[in-house]
Amino acid sequence: MTTATAQAGNAISIEFFPPKTAEGADKLRGVRQALYALRPEFCSVTFGAGGSTQAGTLATVQEILNEGVDAASHFSCIGATRDSVRQQLAQFKAMGVRRLVALRGDLPSGYGAGGEFQYASDLVTFIRAETGHDFHLEVAAYPEVHPQAKSPEADLQAFATKVKAGADSAITQYFYNSDAYFRFVDDAHKLGVDVPIVPGIMPITSSSQLLRFSDACGAEIPRWIRLRLQAYGDDVASIKAFGLEVVTDLCDQLRCAGAPGLHFYSMNQSVATLAICQQLNLLPAAE
Ligand code: FAD
Repeated sequence: MTTATAQAGNAISIEFFPPKTAEGADKLRGVRQALYALRPEFCSVTFGAGGSTQAGTLATVQEILNEGVDAASHFSCIGATRDSVRQQLAQFKAMGVRRLVALRGDLPSGYGAGGEFQYASDLVTFIRAETGHDFHLEVAAYPEVHPQAKSPEADLQAFATKVKAGADSAITQYFYNSDAYFRFVDDAHKLGVDVPIVPGIMPITSSSQLLRFSDACGAEIPRWIRLRLQAYGDDVASIKAFGLEVVTDLCDQLRCAGAPGLHFYSMNQSVATLAICQQLNLLPAAE
């Protein structure tokens, strides 16, 4: 295995979801402490559209800030009103949050759409109009095309519009085909997008979980990976060893080609992300 050149971005960010129980919150504290060994540029916390997990998001973001690490709250606008977004922005400011991942989001089934925002670009425009440059704004990108997009071209154009509305950087949906990412970045540059587009990295630790997620969010699992995972059946050790090799190679390719950083979907676990970073020589020596 090769290791990445010095020109690659070494910035790491790590994503968590808000735990649902006190026990989960306690476990996540330990996971975060382990992952802080990577000296992440920031940690982000997902946000449930429609109010499902929002208190948990804010509590987790506050804990991360209190731990001395920059924290980004994901913030989705589907179903929201201008007033509710204004109030939420004021709360973020009061908490000391300076970084947001601005999203449209998906409402859980059973919710009517409603709301005063249609797309993430509307949220970015509104946040910039209301708060100037008080927040660093990240937006989502889809190298393998958002599942509801009318066409790849329309999706790319919508991404460019969203960035031009005032995003500072983007994080991609996860993927295992680096060509999709490189092409997306090239095409976005041609449309005048010049902000960093950081690849989202999903470690592979479980076959069924990955296949379930990927169907829902439109990330493609290449046939050879899917078949290998299926062939391992319940052999978790082999799945993890294979996953480590595949995802480390992917990260190495991305870094060698100049990706500006890596954003890890930790799934509130530390072991796989740490193992990948160790293989990439991204684990700083202990002081
Ligand atoms: P948008 O950028 O608004 O795009 C949504 C769809 O609308 C796309 O198909 C796009 O092509 C289309 N579109 C956009 N603008 C236009 C336009 N002007 N005209 C026509 N079509 C348009 N979900 C959560 O609920 N909580 C989270 O915390 C969360 N975090 C995420 C983090 C990352 C890094 C990523 C990649 C995704 C995350 N998601 C999260 C999932 C995300 O909410 C869904 O993928 C959602 O369906 C789209 O959100 P968006 O912000 O990308 O939407």
